[in-house]
Amino acid sequence: MNITANWVKNLIQDFIAASPHNTMQNETGERAWDSALVGFASGADQIWQQYKEYVGAFHWTPWEVFNQHCPEETVSAEQLTVISWILPQRNLVRKTNRQAKKYPSEEWARIRVYGEAFNVALRNHVVSNLEKAGHPAIAPMLVPNWTIVQSKRFSYASSWSERHAAHAAGLGTFGLCDGLITARGKAMRAGSVVAKLSIEPTPRPYADHRAYCLFFAEDTCGKCIDRCPVRAITEAGHDKEKCRQHLARAREYVKKTYQFEGYGCGLCQVGVPCEAGIPVKAAREALERGELPPPPPPLA
Ligand code: SF4
Ligand code: SF4
Repeated sequence: MNITANWVKNLIQDFIAASPHNTMQNETGERAWDSALVGFASGADQIWQQYKEYVGAFHWTPWEVFNQHCPEETVSAEQLTVISWILPQRNLVRKTNRQAKKYPSEEWARIRVYGEAFNVALRNHVVSNLEKAGHPAIAPMLVPNWTIVQSKRFSYASSWSERHAAHAAGLGTFGLCDGLITARGKAMRAGSVVAKLSIEPTPRPYADHRAYCLFFAEDTCGKCIDRCPVRAITEAGHDKEKCRQHLARAREYVKKTYQFEGYGCGLCQVGVPCEAGIPVKAAREALERGELPPPPPPLA
């Protein structure tokens, strides 16, 4: 079956609209998500090799992860497409977390757990429907050997990163706090699937991997620094270890206060200019006009 970009987008949108997994599991059964941004990248894009060189040898290219888990298929990198999606946080979730000063709002913590459970179901749904249509596929975050490793350069890094896949698929650039700023902002969760499939890649509408962050583009803002309750963000960037320790404390808080097993923080994702859109005016307007910059330089 010939799969088009619209077929994939509709598959994702229909699942958001109809899946019983799309719930915050609160008393009113509020849905977790209402829409998605979807982008595509070629398995042969040079950016995957650049990530590997920049992050470390343990970081997979699409071809590496596909071949580990679909060994019966003989494929070249050119025959693979990475499908990436962004699930923007709904206004009601952002609004409650904007008021948070130390630990996440109940809604935010519910999304971190039940919204992510939906994201897992969505990855499985995309994989199984592609396979039914004759296109072998895998979700890198769900393979058993996906792992987080300690890294000298980054303190922690993983075998596959949804934010990096989204950046490759034209969906956003990185902010001072490490989050990915998309056309619908930084308050979001991301997902991806690698498939033996040919879909035209989404052009990357940025020349720099930090083009949408005011701190790097205009030397202003830094609002995420003040939003972080544990000073894990400074002008030097994001301290992942401090952030991780706070998330562990948030787990205890969520259990005690909201009475469910959950965690989260995301205070740096809300109450900031990049919460729900691209704050750099020139970049936002260029995207709206559909302009493309010259190709970006290598990341490293
Ligand atoms: S809050 Fe400001 S400095 Fe921080 S990521 Fe967003 S735009 Fe960049
Ligand atoms: S997630 Fe929370 S602890 Fe981590 S950097 Fe953002 S505000 Fe700080």
